Amino acid sequence: MTVEERLAAKEAEVQAQLEELTGAQEGHARAALARCLGESEPLVVDRSTAVTAHESLGRLLEEVRLARTRLVEGSYGRCAVCGGPIPEGRLGARPWATTCLRHG
Ligand SMILES: [Zn+2]
Repeated sequence: MTVEERLAAKEAEVQAQLEELTGAQEGHARAALARCLGESEPLVVDRSTAVTAHESLGRLLEEVRLARTRLVEGSYGRCAVCGGPIPEGRLGARPWATTCLRHG
C-alpha cells in the first residue's frame, strides 16, 4: 500500500467514525456507549466523552487531510515547523504526521 493509499484509507476511516459518533449521540447507541464505559451518570459522562472523542477525531481528520495536501505539494515527510525530515519510523506509524519528533 502506498502512502497515498494509506492516507486515503485513514481519511475514510476517521470520517466514518466521526459520522458514527455523531449518530451515537442520539438514541440507544448513546446509552450503549455509556454502559460500555460503566459510568454511573451516563448522560453527563457520555456527552463529554463523545465531545472529547469528536474533537480528537476531528483533529486527526485535519492532520490526515493536511498530509494528503502536502503529499500533492511535495512537502510531505518534512516537519511543518522546522522543515527537517520526519523520521521514517514515525511516518510508518503515523503516515499523517506533519511534524518531527521534536515538534510533534
Ligand atoms: Zn521539527
